[in-house]
Amino acid sequence: MSSTGVLTPLVDGYGRVHRDLRISVTDRCNFRCTYCMPAEGMVWQPRDHLLSFEEIERVARVAVERFGFDSIRLTGGEPTVRARLPLLVERLAPLGVDLSLTTNGSLLGAMAHDLAAAGLDRVNVSLDSLRPERFAALTRRDDLPRVLQGIRAAVAAGLAPVKVNVVVVRGSNDDEVVDFARFGRDEGVRVRFIEFMPLDADHHWDRSAVVPSAEIVAAIGAEFPLQRLTRDHDPAQRHRYLDGGGEIGVIGSVTEPFCASCDRVRLTADGQLRACLFATDETDLRALLRGGADDDGLAAALEATVGSKWAGHGISDVHFIRPSRSMSEIGG
Ligand code: SAM
Ligand code: SF4
Repeated sequence: MSSTGVLTPLVDGYGRVHRDLRISVTDRCNFRCTYCMPAEGMVWQPRDHLLSFEEIERVARVAVERFGFDSIRLTGGEPTVRARLPLLVERLAPLGVDLSLTTNGSLLGAMAHDLAAAGLDRVNVSLDSLRPERFAALTRRDDLPRVLQGIRAAVAAGLAPVKVNVVVVRGSNDDEVVDFARFGRDEGVRVRFIEFMPLDADHHWDRSAVVPSAEIVAAIGAEFPLQRLTRDHDPAQRHRYLDGGGEIGVIGSVTEPFCASCDRVRLTADGQLRACLFATDETDLRALLRGGADDDGLAAALEATVGSKWAGHGISDVHFIRPSRSMSEIGG
């Protein structure tokens, strides 16, 4: 609601209503996925630059109560390495929105129950190979059993639907898409295949490494016939198995961008507001929060950031400029 008590939708210059807030709670991570971080040398934000749980809750409250946001996702870096994460979930749960978490799953075995008890609704777990040696090479950590255990703990804790995110990279794991489809059917989880985006800290991204969503759907459909579902606000194009074995999703950020229906705003761990994953500018909410801004000031910053949002990321344009921060620094 505005200061006069009226709920105002947060609309950008292209008529898109924003309802989804992605909050990064840390830029740190216990993995070093090759498509995201370098093996060594990441420079972390100083601790005092990270927003406190109280500061995060304030921003979330303004987004929900002034502008009607109905979805909040916690991410990172790896959100589960932030100390006392369930306490943040406990603070956000009363806002009554769809509250979810994106995680590499390695600590979920120990935390899934506490997160669910604190009020988390669901999780997305990232997993890029079902083969132990390849998993270790991709993440630079030998942790496949722990991640599988984490996925099962999330299912057992009722954090449903549990979604498994697979970033498909040509020549790396594109031969596993059918294995992942089978895994999803067997485990009762929704697998979503994500196109590799130019946000890797090593700057190795190359268009030839992108495996188009259409190719992934064709490969899986040849094994398990699929039916495309009607598109909604979900960035994933969903397809259901004709035999009733569940569904998959494909996120074609590069070959089939969904910018026209984007309803997201991102808050980085160090308190910068971004209208797009690929935005080249940010609004310093941390300075506002620590400079004594009231809720009207925070709401005005949200409006200005979303108001200046561009039509699309333009990855395919010749003039495309990569953002200076990589995926883990922004919050995926
Ligand atoms: N650490 C958590 C995880 O891995 O799920 C949350 C943060 S991670 C940055 C969020 C998502 O971004 C993950 O699903 C990850 O696979 C994905 N991701 C990271 N780098 C990417 C890239 N260059 N292209 C596409 N997806 C990427
Ligand atoms: Fe960490 Fe997630 Fe990036 Fe992998 S994708 S390095 S788990 S932040």
